[in-house]
Amino acid sequence: MAEQQEIVICGVDGVLALIEHRLRHLYNEEGVKHWDRFLEACGDDMPNIPLIDRLNQARAEGVPVILLTGRSAAVREQTLEWLRRWQIGYDGLWMRPANDFKPAVEFKAAVIAQHFADVNIRRVYESDTQLDFAHWCTDNNIPCTLVGHNQGNSETRELFELKIIRHACDHTVLYPFYGDDDFTWPDRMQLLTEGSCRVCQVEEQRNEQRRKSEQARYQAQQRGLPPLEGSDKQCAWAESVRLNAFGAADKVLKWMDQVAAQAEEEDPDHWHTMQQSVRKSIEYLENQIDAKWWIDHRHGMMNNLDGGRALLSSIAQELGYF
Ligand SMILES: [Zn+2]
Repeated sequence: MAEQQEIVICGVDGVLALIEHRLRHLYNEEGVKHWDRFLEACGDDMPNIPLIDRLNQARAEGVPVILLTGRSAAVREQTLEWLRRWQIGYDGLWMRPANDFKPAVEFKAAVIAQHFADVNIRRVYESDTQLDFAHWCTDNNIPCTLVGHNQGNSETRELFELKIIRHACDHTVLYPFYGDDDFTWPDRMQLLTEGSCRVCQVEEQRNEQRRKSEQARYQAQQRGLPPLEGSDKQCAWAESVRLNAFGAADKVLKWMDQVAAQAEEEDPDHWHTMQQSVRKSIEYLENQIDAKWWIDHRHGMMNNLDGGRALLSSIAQELGYF
């Protein structure tokens, strides 16, 4: 049997092309994402030279390098020109069609399935902001090297280097380091080495969220609250919102205990009306099983006395108890 053809696949944005200088079109004080400007500025990207060295090494060994990018084919001409200008060798370029707005992972997985199903993918180089595709590679036993993100939004990029970092989680990631970083290179290397890679960080965050919502569900059960209705995701979210709300309601009840004697003496009628409306509002919350309702009402559900008072009085008003 003939030896199977090998290829290397490499991403473009944030992998081969360093895009920090144009992220300001997406993340700015206006809070508006100017995708068109972000895309148009791609011609000014700096090339990731140490990575290009690696790709050239693969090509020298007879392994074709395929560029596979979620970047829109609307800027195909600029991209070809950029590749020419920096003399980047490659053997194929797949860009996401301009009218394709599906997640990049779907486009990339489809290209691989349709065109590279019979070849052995030696390695994929991908940005650590494209974790869905990195996961897809892992699931398909394709080795994937992540290229990390630079923290600075550097304008001067004359001095930069690609460094391999072995994270505390034992994963290795390539990071571009620039001359004008907020940290010195040794400091940044140490910070990165001590922490987990982004894949593991995201995983840890997800586990933490799962743990919190399980805890919230348990506490809700202990309290005798009915199970919530909605999708799993909605219920997990709503559960922690509900827990906060009841934490705040508890604080209101405790406060009422403290002021009861005096309030009763000063204005018994008003006090009784208030007690009743608080009780009915809490009852209403206890019977609220629609996860979406909790998510829609999450703003202002602070787990403190003021939050509790604001919540209960707004429910009372909504229900016409006042
Ligand atoms: Zn990791």
